[in-house]
Amino acid sequence: MIRRIINKVFGRNKSRLADSGAKILARSAHGIRPDQIDDCALKVCETLAGAHYKAYLVGGAVRDLLLGNTPKDFDVATDATPDEVRRLFRRSRIIGRRFQIVHVMCGRVTIEVTTFRSNGQKETEDEDERPTDEHGRLLTDNVFGNMADDAARRDFTINALYYDPLREEVHDYFDGVADCKKRVLRMIGDPETRYREDPVRMLRAARFAAKLDFKIDEATRKPVSTLAPLLANIPRARIFDEALKLLMSGHALRGVHQLRAEGLHHGMLPLLDTILDDPTGERFITAALRTTDLRIAQDKPASPAFLFGALLWPQVLQRWHALEAAGEKPQPALFLAMDDVLDAQRVQLSIPRRYDGMMKEIWALQPRFEQRGGQRPYRLLEHPRFRAAYDFLLLRAESGEVDAELGDWWTRFQDVDDDARTAMLLADTAPRPRRKRKRKKPGEATAGGEQPA
Ligand code: ATP
Ligand code: MG
Repeated sequence: MIRRIINKVFGRNKSRLADSGAKILARSAHGIRPDQIDDCALKVCETLAGAHYKAYLVGGAVRDLLLGNTPKDFDVATDATPDEVRRLFRRSRIIGRRFQIVHVMCGRVTIEVTTFRSNGQKETEDEDERPTDEHGRLLTDNVFGNMADDAARRDFTINALYYDPLREEVHDYFDGVADCKKRVLRMIGDPETRYREDPVRMLRAARFAAKLDFKIDEATRKPVSTLAPLLANIPRARIFDEALKLLMSGHALRGVHQLRAEGLHHGMLPLLDTILDDPTGERFITAALRTTDLRIAQDKPASPAFLFGALLWPQVLQRWHALEAAGEKPQPALFLAMDDVLDAQRVQLSIPRRYDGMMKEIWALQPRFEQRGGQRPYRLLEHPRFRAAYDFLLLRAESGEVDAELGDWWTRFQDVDDDARTAMLLADTAPRPRRKRKRKKPGEATAGGEQPA
């Protein structure tokens, strides 16, 4: 109802320029339809507008709708303060202390409502400088502002688009719509300053370029190789969150290559260098990333523990063989190697401990796939982590770390009836890993695929 009246008053076919300098595009120019918007997000905007506040969908959702993609979630930006928003919605709560946002719930959907912010840029020479550290990193970003301020503090032009679902208009401050059409990722403002303010924006550039298959604008790309070391000043947990977003974006393979091309993996996935330099390691990681991307494309669950387990496996393998070569028995050597690798990565990447259990189970089950006699294969089939461990085995087979025949055997063993299973059993030998021999490089002390003594 409100929407119809507003459309009548303002008309829906014109594009115009707002006082703030934003281009205001009508539906005929942007093509987004209200029926593409989540009901809860629409309700939030309508309620805020009904209480005379501004309310816009913002960020990834508007960008994704313009690009014809389905948004992951819907965020709303408003000029109402967090307390004012909280009072309007019965099912809502304020999150965060310093940087407060409001979560509004309808059924199982949660809409994030953020008050317009400014990055505290000084407007006159008399004002104090914004608080930054010695590298230019912004130390506060929690100052309320108007809508134009809010647009200017966002990272890329395509992320600073605001959609008003009642008037069906897009407010475009930095030609983000044109950049969407050109498929270009462009930083708002001076790229070097913006990366110094928040170095994580470099990782975000790699992530969006990979996820959207956009080209990074030359001026936006240029400072990255020099500024990449600034990532060392960022808390590890934030880097981990960004790594997870990249790996779970559905375009992990492209994302990891993008990171490497920009020299950003030292700050995010330092282990990549070692892995990708080794052909088996590279084949293994490529297979793991491709499988994850495929599962996400098919709307199947993809587990971060499985993926991080895969990223760390080449190191576990290397350490395992080194310990065996030093005289340790295979099973204890594997368990020691798992702990060594998990301890070492905590310094580099900080994979949270909550993933340790599943990673370790997947790794520890790998030697059991070698045992194909007696009751052992039946017991393994019943293990609660069998499925994940079997998927992991297939990656090892695909990369050539173990014989393809081993993966095929387990695929068949799950499919066939009881009689055929019995016929498939091999002699019940002692648990002995049957890894493929890897060609040794001259002078190499411990190679990745040697048979344990
Ligand atoms: P996705 O669909 O992958 O979630 P997104 O654009 O919604 O993409 P978010 O990380 O959810 O990305 O952030 C939401 C919005 O907040 C962004 O679109 C951007 O406008 C702004 N934003 C997020 N992080 C930053 C940052 N580090 N610097 C500036 N703006 C940011
Ligand atoms: Mg988002």
